[in-house]
Amino acid sequence: MREVRVRFAPSPTGALHIGGVRTALYNFLLARQLKGTMILRIEDTDQNRYVPGAEEYILQSLAWVGIKIDEGVGVGGPYAPYRQSERKPIYMQYAQQLIDSGNAYYAFDTEDELEVMRERLKTAGVALPQYNSITRMQMRNSLTLLEEEVKQLLEAKTPYVVRLKVPRKEEVRLNDMIRGWVMVHSSQIDDKVLMKSDGMPTYHLANVVDDYLMKISHVIRGEEWLPSAPLHVLLYKYLGWEKEMPQFAHLPLLLKPTGDGKLSKRDADQMGFPIFPIDWIDPNTKEKAIGFREAGYLPEALINFLAFLGWNPGTQQEIFSLDELINAFSVERIGKAGTKFDIHKAQWFNQQYLRAKSDEALAEYLLDSLSKENISCTKEKAAKIASIMRERITFPKDLWEHGKFFFHAPTTFDENVASKRWNDDAVKVLNAYKIELPTLATFDAPTAKATLEKVTSELGIGTGKILQALRLSITGAGAGPDLMMVMEIIGKDEVMKRIEYALKTLNVKVA
Ligand code: GLU
Repeated sequence: MREVRVRFAPSPTGALHIGGVRTALYNFLLARQLKGTMILRIEDTDQNRYVPGAEEYILQSLAWVGIKIDEGVGVGGPYAPYRQSERKPIYMQYAQQLIDSGNAYYAFDTEDELEVMRERLKTAGVALPQYNSITRMQMRNSLTLLEEEVKQLLEAKTPYVVRLKVPRKEEVRLNDMIRGWVMVHSSQIDDKVLMKSDGMPTYHLANVVDDYLMKISHVIRGEEWLPSAPLHVLLYKYLGWEKEMPQFAHLPLLLKPTGDGKLSKRDADQMGFPIFPIDWIDPNTKEKAIGFREAGYLPEALINFLAFLGWNPGTQQEIFSLDELINAFSVERIGKAGTKFDIHKAQWFNQQYLRAKSDEALAEYLLDSLSKENISCTKEKAAKIASIMRERITFPKDLWEHGKFFFHAPTTFDENVASKRWNDDAVKVLNAYKIELPTLATFDAPTAKATLEKVTSELGIGTGKILQALRLSITGAGAGPDLMMVMEIIGKDEVMKRIEYALKTLNVKVA
């Protein structure tokens, strides 16, 4: 069997989109499952679109989510260099081979000449003017010029590109692992540029040459590359590499949450969720986009979420560790249809992974937030808070954000709750409770509860009726974690102070 070698081949044209992370993940899962090699190749042949910092960003993002690269940029390996710009001298010989075998040709057309051709075709009613098997015969290339002229032009260093000579009538087929047989008629394919006038290869040539030279067995990439695949098949054929051609798997598109159209950064911005794995500062605009990491997503939760965007295990199980994903993954279970990007599902995964953590681990998150606020707190207290807050958090920062009342007495009270729950009965109970508290030798959740019940029964008022008022005075809000535990954590003296303050402040407002 062929050795499994897969590659993630991003272009450093900006921040890595979350869809790119999914592509990298699927490659990685297949590589690990089949004991293969995961390669990172940087496709930077388009100098105009190069964005400084993008490559480092890709490396950092992959490292953060735990996708380990075996070979490639940042790691090295037997087929180095893995950055296409550093491989520039390699490509021309293959373009030359294609020219020599009559499958590619030199084209000397200037931008203006190309524009004239496009205009002419448009006037003639051609919707999509192309340089192809028909139009190439009217252009300035080595198919139409005399051999002598071509020689002279080359000797005079006239700028040229090398184009693929796509056959006029041929069925190009490829067997995609996800889509099955894909058939495209060659009349639909234009004579793509293989080598640019700056001596750089285009994506198509460099991609195919490198996949061949790096012995890639499977090409797993986004659906947006499917239209290029027939062209790549022709290149494999003309270069005599048909036997070495990798298997293709084109992943379904990631759709907007509404399902209509491809997910874009604009959608994510509008709906207020991240689309990049980690923070990205655009080097041109200096605009900052918040990453999943900085928004509080755990890498293992994000990976689990991404794995399910297009793939499913065929069972009810949803929580998969990376190792479990490696075992369960299969390209056969990737769907063809685009998948909606549901950020609520990502949040759900994050909640599940947070809940699976120990109180002590969660406490570290809280202590982290507290140290930024210059608030000191023991590990024990933080762990106690974590234990009652764990079901209520989506992100680590929520421990602090939703639990500020553990450290700061409320200064305002939810008016809605106050208007409904702050009444004479509540005031009576709280006054009595406040008097009862100093008599307690120890104070914890059970004694807090027993004392409250004692007070309410003496007054003949149902505990349930005043509980929200008590919560309001302790936390300022009408809902939250176990109130008796909250009181135990903040302590008796603080409970008394807060009740007193609430009685003073809220009494004024309630008639
Ligand atoms: N450089 C392409 C990209 O930016 C790679 C496509 C492929 O995997 O062939 O996505």
